[in-house]
Amino acid sequence: MFIDSAKIKIKAGDGGNGAVSFRREKYVAAGGPDGGDGGRGGNIVFQVDDNLSTLVDFRYKRKYTAARGGDGGGKRCSGKSAEDLVIRVPRGTLLRDAETGRLVADLSGDEPQIVARGGRGGWGNSHFATPTRQVPNFAKPGTPGEEMELTLELKLLADVGLVGFPNVGKSTLISVVSEAKPNIANYHFTTLTPVLGVVRLGEGRSFVMADIPGLIEGASDGAGLGHQFLRHVDRCRLLVHVVDVSGSEGRDPKEDFRIINEELKKFDPDLAERPMLVAGNKCDLTDDETVAEFRRFVEEQGYEFFPIMAAIAYDVQPLLNRISELLSKLPPIRRYEPEAPVLPAEDAFAGSRVTVTERGGVYFVEGDWLPQFIRSVNFDDYESLQYFQRVLISSGVIDALREAGVQEGDTVSMYDLEFDFME
Ligand code: GDP
Ligand code: MG
Repeated sequence: MFIDSAKIKIKAGDGGNGAVSFRREKYVAAGGPDGGDGGRGGNIVFQVDDNLSTLVDFRYKRKYTAARGGDGGGKRCSGKSAEDLVIRVPRGTLLRDAETGRLVADLSGDEPQIVARGGRGGWGNSHFATPTRQVPNFAKPGTPGEEMELTLELKLLADVGLVGFPNVGKSTLISVVSEAKPNIANYHFTTLTPVLGVVRLGEGRSFVMADIPGLIEGASDGAGLGHQFLRHVDRCRLLVHVVDVSGSEGRDPKEDFRIINEELKKFDPDLAERPMLVAGNKCDLTDDETVAEFRRFVEEQGYEFFPIMAAIAYDVQPLLNRISELLSKLPPIRRYEPEAPVLPAEDAFAGSRVTVTERGGVYFVEGDWLPQFIRSVNFDDYESLQYFQRVLISSGVIDALREAGVQEGDTVSMYDLEFDFME
């Protein structure tokens, strides 16, 4: 079965904890602190794999967790950084935040993409030694790895998409012009998965054609198989609408043509604007007058018409040449730009749990919501910084610090951040 959407959970690895340790040397009573830092947690990375053509693997495995960083040790030994967890997906997979629908990444290129970052390792106690604090008996825990729920959606990458009713000869056409070998049979819906084929025209000219399974009336409303596959038309730069001009199944080719165009438009008005050529197939089963009549019908609507007999590859060359000519002038295959996360409302964290612990003059702030929130702030940007400060007030962090006895100039440690407290 062709699976082109899935929902999974990912969790990057937590950072390892910093160590509390003191040097032990013979004849030295109390050595200095030498606790090493924790290692970085593994990232979750997505990578295109052209051996994959569906998202079926994600139906069976839905949870992906990267390894945790190692803890720091004595003698300033740093914990081991964990390896990234690489998740392989077919080319054209879109990743969205399941909660908000935000587009996180478009896996169309070859560059691996980090989608969830591993936590940072905590500092060992050797970092906390100062002239006034010579025996720091505390270290920092690692920060948690990012986690999120993702929806995966495959949107094939092809230059040309074949659309049309079932049994009009789409699979036959792609099989005679490319190396693709889809199932061809005289019954509806033989093609249950979209098939990609590379069409080579010589002189290095080539393009990718997609055989999109038969659309039927009502496809845009979810009838039949159509709806599931319409999204794969979305990125095609050009459509070839294949029509059975002979009406060999007792259908009216004009009516078929109108219905499919209507379905495309209902699914996405943009699709109706997509450049489209019309291929009139099965010319061997009808007379010249019928073909000429159909040609007039589509040309009147502003489409170019190409009569073919796909089964014997007759007259397909003019169609392929025209496709190639048009593609050379059309914009490249659409890539989607990832969207920036929306910052939570300023009062979103009011009443959230915050704990402040004082150790050796450093005030450690902790709360489950903090790491994710801190990551969303851009500290180089003045506006963001102000937003950050306002959230610290509205969420009760500042009050909690005061309650714990923080004074002007004291050090506040909040996961990855360390700053001096100022009124
Ligand atoms: P699809 O559902 O649009 O992919 O259609 P197929 O490619 O599976 O073809 C459906 C049937 O039409 C098959 O039996 C083909 O052999 C037949 N067919 C395809 N092209 C032609 C043609 O040019 N002439 C005739 N007579 N039959 C064809
Ligand atoms: Mg087919």
